[in-house]
Amino acid sequence: MRDAGITGCVVNATCEEDWDAVEALAAEFGGFVIPAYGIHPWKADTAKVGWEERLKRRLKADPGATVGEIGVDGWVAAPEMDVQREVFVKQVRIAVEMGRIMTVHCLKAWEELFSVMDELPQWPEKFLMHSFGGSIEVAERLAKKGAWFSFSGYFLHERKRKVLEVFRKLPKDRILLETDAPEMMPPEEFVEFRLESGANHPANLRAIAEAFVNDMGDTILGQFEENRKRFWR
Ligand SMILES: [Zn+2]
Repeated sequence: MRDAGITGCVVNATCEEDWDAVEALAAEFGGFVIPAYGIHPWKADTAKVGWEERLKRRLKADPGATVGEIGVDGWVAAPEMDVQREVFVKQVRIAVEMGRIMTVHCLKAWEELFSVMDELPQWPEKFLMHSFGGSIEVAERLAKKGAWFSFSGYFLHERKRKVLEVFRKLPKDRILLETDAPEMMPPEEFVEFRLESGANHPANLRAIAEAFVNDMGDTILGQFEENRKRFWR
């Protein structure tokens, strides 16, 4: 990633089993890797007794650590939404209590997300909607709640052009970029690097950024570094 000119990244856990590996990466690449600890909606049913306290302890040990990837997903059949929702709500409360940024995954569950927002007495000042693929109407509602939006290279696929149209209408000072590696492979022409397994490599961010700037216009270019600093502090 450094060779490709990338100056930092966020590494999200998906379940408690990942936390040690995320912590090890953050320790090895201090200042480059921002760790995110959490339980992904797809793995909400892996949460074991006492996980909330262990998550808090993990966050307390590193003031720069964030909460992620957390959220709700109506696209997958399991775990059930009630299970996902409970784990999500608890993690948002922890993020608020500890003043941490959170990375949110939401797929086909917008109303569920808004109902969680309405239910909670407090919501973090700012949060990231990762791989945001919602409509402009959804984006506007989220922006009022402090959302930032990260564009994933996956949305450079021709059949996903609608997502770029939404990003064109978003406030430029709320946009970030991501690969979601090793998931969400971008189209072939933007794949400069692959992991050994053949999966999406995080250094593909450079090609994704170029494509995004080509589409959005040069004015976004200077904005990225500034946005990154403002969001991740
Ligand atoms: Zn996700």
